[in-house]
Amino acid sequence: MDGLQLGQSPPGFRSGFASFIGRPNVGKSTLLNQIMRAKVSIISERPQTTRNAVRGVLTTEAAQAVFIDTPGFHKPRTALGQKLNAVVHVTLAEVDVVVFVVDAADGVGSGDAFLAHQLHNVRTPVLVVLNKTDLVAEQALERQMVAVRALGSFEEILPVSAKSGAGVADLVRLVTSRLPEGPLFYPPDQVTDQPESVLVAEIVREKALRLTRDEVPHSIAVVVEEMREAEEEGRLEVDVIVYVERDSQKGILIGHRGGMLKQIGTEARREISALLGSRVHLDLRVKVKRDWQRQPGLVERFGYGRQ
Ligand code: GDP
Ligand code: MG
Repeated sequence: MDGLQLGQSPPGFRSGFASFIGRPNVGKSTLLNQIMRAKVSIISERPQTTRNAVRGVLTTEAAQAVFIDTPGFHKPRTALGQKLNAVVHVTLAEVDVVVFVVDAADGVGSGDAFLAHQLHNVRTPVLVVLNKTDLVAEQALERQMVAVRALGSFEEILPVSAKSGAGVADLVRLVTSRLPEGPLFYPPDQVTDQPESVLVAEIVREKALRLTRDEVPHSIAVVVEEMREAEEEGRLEVDVIVYVERDSQKGILIGHRGGMLKQIGTEARREISALLGSRVHLDLRVKVKRDWQRQPGLVERFGYGRQ
């Protein structure tokens, strides 16, 4: 890596983009984190937490791979849904490699068949990752391999465990070997091109969804209004607003005597401090914005559907 300059293309150096696609919850974000070994994308027990195309940049001596974690692909019912699907389509056509992630523990199902069908029309080479191998026995894994082969013709099918890291180095090698020769797009030490504010918002969103369990829908949006240095040395002040669609949802997020909001704030602050490497004061508010998902202007303003 030493001596590599931005935009330079040493002989044999490869660079390009790889996009993850797969049903919600198959482990795309976990895999991206395992590859980057830093918290670039946000993991949640709940599906469809990732709304933006989060990028992780991995630079080695021989290649630079930019990984994109696409949001879930699903039948659009709202302006937000349409926006998400448009992002996915554009992403797949533009990248150099598609990594189609399938859940070996859950088993190949109709959701995977739907995605495989979408991929038929995409010229980009597709590698299949059979994830969560730590949860399945050898024979079950064999059966899932057969089921994946029945979905279409893919360049390669690779069993991995995003959780333990098994097979992940092989995946990185396979991906980089399929990138075209090209220059360095990002500085070698950069791991993500997401602004800090987006990462901060995603952390708050993940905590809110997880701590309230099924009680607030995915229609919450988190906006970082401001991040500033506090007067006190080495401390950041972060103002965050959580938008919900109904008063009842606001009530759930705030909780009895503010207990829920306090807990969300405490957990989020801890993680944001670690991410930013600084002490953080988090000012967390909840506001009601009726039916924002159905209004394209608001979907845009809240930062969803951006490339
Ligand atoms: P995404 O929706 O595809 O981005 O999925 P996530 O990365 O958010 O993962 C969904 C859930 O599956 C989380 O609870 C992860 O911890 C879990 N998970 C992901 N990969 C693995 C794996 O290889 N093994 C196991 N046991 N769990 C995994
Ligand atoms: Mg995800």
